[in-house]
Amino acid sequence: MEILNIEDVKKIDSRIYDSTVFITGVTGQDGSYMVDFLLKNTNVLIFGGARRLSIKNHENLKHLENNPRFKLVNFDLSDSHSIYKILEVIKPDYFINFAAQTFVGSSWDFPEQTWECNTTGIIHILESIKRHKSSCRFYNAGSSEEYGDVSYIPQDEKHPLKPRSPYGASKAAARLLVKVYRESYNLYAIQGLLFNHEGCRRGEEFVTRKITKGVARIKKSMLELKSFNSIELGNVDAKRDWSDAEDFVDGVWKMLNQKSPKEYVLSSNETHTIKEFVTLAFKSAEIEGVWHGNGTNAEFSISVSDAKKYNPVNSVLVKINTKFYRPAEVDLLLGDSNLARRELNWLPKTNFENLIDKMVKNDLNQIGL
Ligand code: GDP
Repeated sequence: MEILNIEDVKKIDSRIYDSTVFITGVTGQDGSYMVDFLLKNTNVLIFGGARRLSIKNHENLKHLENNPRFKLVNFDLSDSHSIYKILEVIKPDYFINFAAQTFVGSSWDFPEQTWECNTTGIIHILESIKRHKSSCRFYNAGSSEEYGDVSYIPQDEKHPLKPRSPYGASKAAARLLVKVYRESYNLYAIQGLLFNHEGCRRGEEFVTRKITKGVARIKKSMLELKSFNSIELGNVDAKRDWSDAEDFVDGVWKMLNQKSPKEYVLSSNETHTIKEFVTLAFKSAEIEGVWHGNGTNAEFSISVSDAKKYNPVNSVLVKINTKFYRPAEVDLLLGDSNLARRELNWLPKTNFENLIDKMVKNDLNQIGL
């Protein structure tokens, strides 16, 4: 897909649209789902910010190739000039920031880059909004990782920020910056509190997609009577509150269109272990498995009845590799999104089982099953 320069953008007439939205991180999961949601439900003109890379990463946007309401613009969150130019030229009515160093695991390896992108970048956006378009409504992606070492269960909007990773700390600091700018300059600037959200566009470094892709790979090998490598995971006892990312972009848009700015938790209000995710993911591919052992000795192997049915070369489907453990873990996340359900009239449509089933079917389909 063509990436426009800021000079090309000047020639676009946006007056026929209700408003103009600038979205960062459009090549990723949340950004691309946000674009799809706005194209379907509104009449806004959308500019998506993307870096010009030698290897294109436009997989999540390929269905938008000729859509007149969506334009890709050359943009880099790590360059303040790029941010200022966007605000100066486009003067968007909404700025939705989904660009980030989003992977908690990598944030220990790249703490400075995580901070630059997730925190310093937010100062540049807020300053640019203040200078060039103070009526612009700003949404910054927040995370349940900001809660970290949780004080109580379930976690609602009042829960203290107790991050356990450089990622969580970078988002918690960004939250405080957004609040300070909102209160100091009367900006419509918010950072939603989104619990884990997944889907068919989820990056493979996240545990959910790693599992569903692994399930599809193993199923294919079993059907072809070939040997396979087990899926290797870290801490499978961690608990997360997982939802469908497509449900969340609706909630984000609702948060952005209130009378006055207010931040909400979005969550499924359920928590499940990684073990439960694994069990259900294999079940979606019609493979029954059983967990044995605990902690680093845990192992998920094919059930006796399915071993007879498939006669697989290997029987261990999932095993533990301690290299996927983190220096500090967030053991349990469980959201309370009742305030958003009441005040924003937001309700998620896809439950845990259906989310897993959708992801597994998609990954099976991608390899021809
Ligand atoms: P996060 O909640 O944003 O960190 O989302 P992730 O999907 O990266 O991780 C969710 C949980 O799965 C964390 O508690 C991880 O420690 C745990 N986990 C266990 N094994 C793995 C693995 O192999 N990869 C990832 N990414 N996470 C794992």
